[in-house]
Amino acid sequence: MNSKTIQTKDYLNPRTEAEKKLAGTLPNASLYSAEDLLHELQVHQIELEMQNEELQRALAALDVAHHRYLDLYEFAPVGYLTLSSNGEIIEINLTATTMLNVDRNDLLNHQFSNYIAPQNADNWYKKFRSMLAQKTTATNLELMLKRGDSEFYARLDCLVVINDKIPTLRITLTDITEKKRIEEELRIAAVAFDAQEGIMITNADKVVFRINKAFTDITGYSAEELIGHHPPLFKSVRHHENFYNEIWECVNSNGFWEGEIWDRRKDGEIYPQWLTITAVKDDKKTTTHYVYLHNDISSLKASEEVIKQLAFYDPLTSLPNRRLLLDRLQQALAASARSEKYGALLFIDLDNFKSLNDDLGHDMGDVLLEQVAQRLVACVREGDTVSRQGGDEFVIMMEELSEHPEEAAAKAKTIGEKILTSLNQSYQLLHREYQNTPSIGITLFIDHLHTINALMKRADIAMYEAKSAGRNTLRFYDQRMQEAVTARAALEKDLRCALEKKEFELYFQRQECTDGSTVGAEVLLRWNHPERGLILPAQFIPLAEEIGLIIPIGLWVLSSTCAQLKLWKKHKKTRKLRLAVNISARQFHQTNFNQQLCTLLKKNTISADRLILEFTESLVFQNFNDNIDSTLVKMQKLKAIGVSFSMDDFGTGYSSLYYLAKLPFDQLKIDQSFVSNIGLKSTDTTIVQTIIGMTINLGMNIIAEGVETQDQRKFLELHGCQTYQGNLLGRPMPLLEFERSLNLN
Ligand code: C2E
Ligand code: CA
Ligand code: CA
Repeated sequence: MNSKTIQTKDYLNPRTEAEKKLAGTLPNASLYSAEDLLHELQVHQIELEMQNEELQRALAALDVAHHRYLDLYEFAPVGYLTLSSNGEIIEINLTATTMLNVDRNDLLNHQFSNYIAPQNADNWYKKFRSMLAQKTTATNLELMLKRGDSEFYARLDCLVVINDKIPTLRITLTDITEKKRIEEELRIAAVAFDAQEGIMITNADKVVFRINKAFTDITGYSAEELIGHHPPLFKSVRHHENFYNEIWECVNSNGFWEGEIWDRRKDGEIYPQWLTITAVKDDKKTTTHYVYLHNDISSLKASEEVIKQLAFYDPLTSLPNRRLLLDRLQQALAASARSEKYGALLFIDLDNFKSLNDDLGHDMGDVLLEQVAQRLVACVREGDTVSRQGGDEFVIMMEELSEHPEEAAAKAKTIGEKILTSLNQSYQLLHREYQNTPSIGITLFIDHLHTINALMKRADIAMYEAKSAGRNTLRFYDQRMQEAVTARAALEKDLRCALEKKEFELYFQRQECTDGSTVGAEVLLRWNHPERGLILPAQFIPLAEEIGLIIPIGLWVLSSTCAQLKLWKKHKKTRKLRLAVNISARQFHQTNFNQQLCTLLKKNTISADRLILEFTESLVFQNFNDNIDSTLVKMQKLKAIGVSFSMDDFGTGYSSLYYLAKLPFDQLKIDQSFVSNIGLKSTDTTIVQTIIGMTINLGMNIIAEGVETQDQRKFLELHGCQTYQGNLLGRPMPLLEFERSLNLN
């Protein structure tokens, strides 16, 4: 605002009301001299000038005040704006424009509602209209406003001002986003404070300041009992004082500690908790409070125990399981590296456990396993691990036996023998006495010379070696065993594709009767291995039985034999020949064995009486209780269609004369071990005599195998033997050679 200078001459010629008034105050000119007048005028002029200066000063002060007001208005910490009655912005301060992040020119004369977030638009219209209608003096509301692409929380303090009957709305705008955030945090904190976790807050002197309800629930202490006091918690229950000192050292240096701790509830009960202590610090990094989070983990601990038990112990015997054993073995290897002392692994497998399970049922099997477990534990020192691997397999780990391998082996052997003796004692299974034996494989270990897997495998190999050696014995692992196992694995691989590659061939070994005529032949399997040449059955039949391949192989033998018999029907010399086929237990116990055989007979249109099935004693008697009836029925069915049966290797196995008489055998084959001892071993000579006599009494015919000398043949003939087989009469030979020997061609 510009100040106008008032000119003195204007008073002499008054025009405005003010000048006239001023002129009226002047003394009458005619009564005064010009000098007086001049003086008077000068005085007035001075007075006026003084008044003028004062006015100037007042105006300047007003100007300053106006600027200060403008600054205050524009830069106030809150936004100011005025809306017209139709909602347009007619005035707005700088703070408000900054809040909305829009230029003042773009805001003036534009609708304020453009800056209300869509979700709050309706609310704003309603409020705006009602404020204007009711001329409400002061209202406040909280709304989300737009700021560019984002939004912010604002508080609007509104005042309706009426100017010339036209209402306008003055608004004070405050950004309350931060306040809202804090409010929310407090709300969350309040809810969190009432969480499941027990919370206790103490001051820096560990005097309780606040606790939550969960804390009371866990500890049994109420807020009144604790607030203002040192809590009666974390007092040595199961932990040494040092433990607590370490906790506080950690809190003081890291600001934090967490871990499992045993504490005492108000009622005295000791329980495990997961405790977290956090130090709360101020700006100067001085601890002002401690926050304790308590989690009662007693039920968790209980489940953890159960899980641990399930995960590491065998539920039946409560012995450590395989996993725990491997874990301990790992530690034992490390320990042996330090102590330089050998330890030993003993693999123990029960002999014929499967048949016990099959005969007496799994419950009885379980009872036996429990008793075995107890005996094993009784055989070893306390620190040794007796574990059950599953089934009837147990592994014992013994540590720190000796620095010298021989001595360690001797100690392991002593324990092994102790176990053999112990497990050979009869078991009481409910009301039954039961006899069982184990096979034990042992290997020594020290340091990390071998991996855990390799060690387990060694003990396992040694155990199998004990089995092969006739069971109920123990064997130590050695290098040759390993080689045998490797070779076996290679053989198995080849065996699996031998059928497909047509590598099998049938050999025929002549059988003749006393007058020297050929009655037939025994069919003997050969494997023409592409690299290893001819392989005899002893080298692959047991493996084939073990891995189940004997079933397709056996079927191939039967089917090829039947095909051969069909071809031989054409020749006079071969039409009457009978072929004896060796049948494996597994093959015969197949449910469809009879059916397969009948199909083959039909397909080749051959008479069943051309076939003799050779069974070993083990086939018939091994799973004795279970199978004797089904074996009998199966044999009788085949017998009914004309098939004959021969009892192979008689005298070497389980020989039960009772069952031998009961089963429909036509022939008994004296094992070659007796034949070869004829004249050499008097007992064997007697056995041969007895067998022949008995067989004839039972109404069966008799054949001797492995006849190599004329003397043997003579002796057999003398004692009533009717049929002979052996190298003396002809080795097993390929088809063509065999046919040639019969003078077929
Ligand atoms: P096995 O049934 O006792 O067969 C007789 C074995 O004695 C044959 O051995 C034969 O070559 C041999 N042998 C025959 N005469 C003499 C002799 O005068 N002196 C001596 N020392 N040995 C003689 P091979 O062919 O090695 O067969 C061995 C075993 O393999 C057989 O014993 C039989 O149990 C089994 N086997 C052979 N072929 C088959 C088959 O097709 N299926 C099944 N499941 N087993 C078979
Ligand atoms: Ca045989
Ligand atoms: Ca035999």
